[in-house]
Amino acid sequence: MFKQLGRCQLRRTSTVLSLLLVWTVMATSCKEESSPATRFGLVIHGGAGTITKEKMTEEMEAAYREALTGALILGHQTLAKGGSAVKTVELVIRRLEDSPLFNAAKGAVFTSTGTNELDASIMDGKTLNAGAVAAVKHIKNPITAARLVMEESPHVLLIGDGAEEFAREHDVEFVAPEYFYTDRRWKSYVKRKEKEVKRAAASTDEETGREVDGDEKYGTVGVAALDGSGNLAAGTSTGGTTFKRFGRVGDSPIIGAGTYADNRTCAVSGTGTGEYFIRFAIAHHISALMAYEGKSVQEACDIVIHEKLTGLGGDGGVIAIDWQGNIAFSFNTDGMYRGHVKGDGVAVVKIYGD
Ligand code: ASP
Repeated sequence: MFKQLGRCQLRRTSTVLSLLLVWTVMATSCKEESSPATRFGLVIHGGAGTITKEKMTEEMEAAYREALTGALILGHQTLAKGGSAVKTVELVIRRLEDSPLFNAAKGAVFTSTGTNELDASIMDGKTLNAGAVAAVKHIKNPITAARLVMEESPHVLLIGDGAEEFAREHDVEFVAPEYFYTDRRWKSYVKRKEKEVKRAAASTDEETGREVDGDEKYGTVGVAALDGSGNLAAGTSTGGTTFKRFGRVGDSPIIGAGTYADNRTCAVSGTGTGEYFIRFAIAHHISALMAYEGKSVQEACDIVIHEKLTGLGGDGGVIAIDWQGNIAFSFNTDGMYRGHVKGDGVAVVKIYGD
């Protein structure tokens, strides 16, 4: 009897022990899979447009790949060291703003009056706080000014002289307007101006006048990041569209249009014809489709780009990362400079429609 009880207890004890072991193994592997330290990631874009292999030289392609890869590595290092999503977005965008390749800060396009007017925004998905600047002309890195608006002011968007005065008070780096001159963007401006003059003389319809090479038209930069603490952030910086009317503001500094981040859904940055992105609240629309309709981040991006934007005749693309680290891209143009990196540190860069 005693012997029997003992055997029974032994069996029960060993069953409990094996269950505990299975639970421990499962708990450990689950923890590894979803460990915040390995789940971080970021996704970037450098503009969308008529970007095809035929129009690209080998040197240009190599330069773009190098710039995008460098930005991804910087973002990965920042996140791996425990940097926040907001910090990562700012640092990576600053890197892209300093490159003459992109239509943001240093490589900005020119307005119809031959000036550069810069827009940028940033949003913190944890607090839903946001900051932006528009139509600034002397700020070397508009994304830093946008972050200061978010963190050091009660406002979301400051424009023109007011934005510059605020930035000056916060020791942001200023440059002379000539800093933003690049041969490539000036040539685009001159080409476009000639077209406009011809168009006015021949009084052709307005549509013809809007035809611009995709490469001349876009080049905005954007970053969406998920950090090791599970916080999301997004940011976008641009010179706008070539030959835009001075004073025109596009979607990039408009929260909900060009930029959006919410820890409960995703972080998004867009690029394309800003007027359409504003009308459709594109970036927020993606987050809303996830929140209200349970769409995945890729489904939400595709619906917004291929149904909504295309349906209205707009063009461009978006990048996004969700709260679980899933990455998404969607665009209806020939190509979009883009890339992503996750916790494993493998940087992936793409340019064309693949
Ligand atoms: N979305 C920007 C704007 O309309 C342009 C771009 O993405 O290239 O200002």
